[in-house]
Amino acid sequence: MTDLIKALITRLKNEHTLTLCEYKTLINGYSQDAAHYAASLAMEEKKRIYGNEVYIRGLIEISNICKNDCNYCGIRKSNLNCSRYRLSPSEILACCDHGYSLGFRTFVLQGGEDGYFSDSVLVPLLEKIKSRYPDCAVTLSLGERSRESYERLYHAGADRYLLRHETADREHYSSLHPSSLSYERRMECLRDLMDIGYQVGCGFMVGSPGQTSDHLAADLKFIEEFSPHMCGIGPFIPHCDTPYRDHMAGSVELTCYLLSLIRLIKPSILLPSTTALGTLRENGREMGILSGANVVMPNLSPEDAKAKYTLYNNKLTSGAESAEALDMLRKKMSAIGAEIVCARGDAK
Ligand code: SAM
Repeated sequence: MTDLIKALITRLKNEHTLTLCEYKTLINGYSQDAAHYAASLAMEEKKRIYGNEVYIRGLIEISNICKNDCNYCGIRKSNLNCSRYRLSPSEILACCDHGYSLGFRTFVLQGGEDGYFSDSVLVPLLEKIKSRYPDCAVTLSLGERSRESYERLYHAGADRYLLRHETADREHYSSLHPSSLSYERRMECLRDLMDIGYQVGCGFMVGSPGQTSDHLAADLKFIEEFSPHMCGIGPFIPHCDTPYRDHMAGSVELTCYLLSLIRLIKPSILLPSTTALGTLRENGREMGILSGANVVMPNLSPEDAKAKYTLYNNKLTSGAESAEALDMLRKKMSAIGAEIVCARGDAK
């Protein structure tokens, strides 16, 4: 690691801001030493705010039906090999019941942009979840909706919303998405969510096709300026039925380095160590936690839904990834000095 890289990482820890050009220097200056140094500072920051606690979220994949055709995604509309499913509101409630008994106090309802889940389906569902479990937080991750819809869902009890910005570069955004989706609209949704009062999560894939260090620098600058409560980043992993089937997967090491830098940008951020990290490397999730992440999202979906919600190939669904194996996850985390806690786990 050069003196310049070390100085930039130290300054990021102290000042939480760098120029676009400095972020790019940090990304191009990636080395094992630099990653190690960034991780040690990120761990200090995480410990200062969250101690050794890791929050768990019960992920419920409510539908793999999607009207969009994102080039990277295995559940894209034009993938005719995808076997489609949708959970009914009572199946979703059953997942929450099961999750609550296991100790989950946050439920994340994630799915494709499935027209079935209109406000008139989601509002009563949210009201039921919140009245049954007033001590739990509900996170939605259902893509782009109108501001009015985001408002209705918020007033029905949704606390948080995850909507990855995917890339903070307009042209790169267009290359990853069909023309029906736009960078401007994505940013407008994120601003609406923040404005309404949600705890908001943005995020991006590391190593998505066409991504450069300029793009990643723009992502870090965007995170600095937008100041989200949560940020989901994970390596891109190809899916065989998408236009990116032959593209290489993103780097686990670079993802971990970026997790550390994001922790230094916003020390109080809720930062998941994602399934994609665990999919690419056996101890990937532990590597994420040791780089500064403080959230894991075990899967509470029914078994056949887990198998069909294939965003990318070889998605990890068993072992500590499954909500039933919470004890295994607890042991794995405690082996690296982290403690799984049963709490809503709001940002501090
Ligand atoms: N439809 C909602 C949305 O777009 O926000 C939620 C579901 S979407 C499938 C969740 C996230 O999965 C996306 O934001 C994307 O970053 C990630 N994802 C999709 N395909 C992926 C792939 N091939 N590799 C890694 N992550 C992927």
